[in-house]
Amino acid sequence: MFDLTLSFDNGPEPEVTPRVLDILGERGIKATFFVIGEKLLDPERRSLSVRAHQEGHWIGNHTYTHSVPLGLQRDPDTAEHEIARTQALIGDLAHPQRWFRPFGGGGNLDDRLLKPSVVEHLSAGEYSCVLWNSIPRDWDDPDGWVERALTQCRAQTWSLMVLHDLPTGAMWHLDRFLALVEERGGRIRQDFPPDCLPMVDGQMKFEIDGLLAEV
Ligand SMILES: [Zn+2]
Repeated sequence: MFDLTLSFDNGPEPEVTPRVLDILGERGIKATFFVIGEKLLDPERRSLSVRAHQEGHWIGNHTYTHSVPLGLQRDPDTAEHEIARTQALIGDLAHPQRWFRPFGGGGNLDDRLLKPSVVEHLSAGEYSCVLWNSIPRDWDDPDGWVERALTQCRAQTWSLMVLHDLPTGAMWHLDRFLALVEERGGRIRQDFPPDCLPMVDGQMKFEIDGLLAEV
């Protein structure tokens, strides 16, 4: 028995997100989509976020460009450019708790993730910062990630898993993965494990010094 929360990052993508939504819908599963701001400039892509929202999924902010990790950006306006701009595009699709997920390189949780000015921005804007504890690397192993994902689920009581609704081919295995989760007694839920939420509604919940750059 294990709990599993699903998140889909880096979309929306017309070739993949509709299929992910279909699969989740057929199985009655709710998840969170952490979207990239600049992708929402495209009306077709934004309409996919509208659909996800209408179907009960949560929409989170995953930066505007998803280019240079925030802790490595020297620009003092990083938070404005990457976070505020994305939140404005998400608009009324936003969850009241204003989910925000930073990104590292390859899913690492380290000091590239954030920097003090970004944390101040998140706090002032009453965001909730959503990390993760399961990253089966679907993007670089589109066929082999399912086994790794199941192993990660079995290793802890509650996994918050990062998958990607990107055209890598990985999501062709999503339905098989979800069938295996069910077969093994996994319980899928939409909320997040508290140890993955260092900030909730702008309030710090635990120390994140290890995730902060010194700039
Ligand atoms: Zn990402």
